[in-house]
Amino acid sequence: MQKLAAGNWKMNGTAAALDEVRALLAAHPAPACEMLLCPPATLIARLADLAAGSALRIGGQDCHAAPSGAHTGDIAAAMLADAGASHVILGHSERRADHDETDDQVAAKTRAAWATGLVAVVCVGETEAERDAGTTLAVVGRQLAGSVPDGATAANCVIAYEPVWAIGTGRTPTLPEIAEVHAHLRATLTARFGAEAGGMRLLYGGSVKPANAADIFALPDVDGALVGGASLKAADFGAIVAAL
Ligand code: 13P
Repeated sequence: MQKLAAGNWKMNGTAAALDEVRALLAAHPAPACEMLLCPPATLIARLADLAAGSALRIGGQDCHAAPSGAHTGDIAAAMLADAGASHVILGHSERRADHDETDDQVAAKTRAAWATGLVAVVCVGETEAERDAGTTLAVVGRQLAGSVPDGATAANCVIAYEPVWAIGTGRTPTLPEIAEVHAHLRATLTARFGAEAGGMRLLYGGSVKPANAADIFALPDVDGALVGGASLKAADFGAIVAAL
């Protein structure tokens, strides 16, 4: 399957960041992997214009479960699609922590994303306390079961494994630890979705940078990365794209 290099800009980026995207597109006009950038909502339309006709896809970082209505400050999946997005990140640990998002809510948002034709990038991952307690596989299995609705396919669903303690810290699990979780995700998805699960892309996220990307990507069942800080600079993200 084609691998996916996805960037999550989080709450970073104004119009000045468009230069980074221009540089990325100039340096990687025909990458071997699929590229996705998820900027703040204010930049989606402008990035989508820049990326038109290129290998770069654009995504949102969240959407509401409802199609429209009285939800001040929220964004509907159809609005993301209208702005030029093809993907949306859902259930990121920062939203689970900052906004108390539950697995049920993530599942409802995922159904809303699918209803408008967006690909959902559903995030799971354990906290440091959960890893120390030896419950990592149970935690990600529970999040997967609760956050991914029936109807997931290789085309509409990407799973991102992001250990909370590895995000923005410069720390990563060991390679065997990443491989163990990804194997568990694949087995859990296969038990539920059958052969279709073989084509679902499983991304690793959490302090991915040019220096560790190739080793992580070489692991079985790692089909790409969800990159935070290193996706903000064209040179860093481009090096990760090249490593795929
Ligand atoms: P960092 O790459 O900055 O650790 O962030 C990972 C992440 O949360 C991507 O969604």
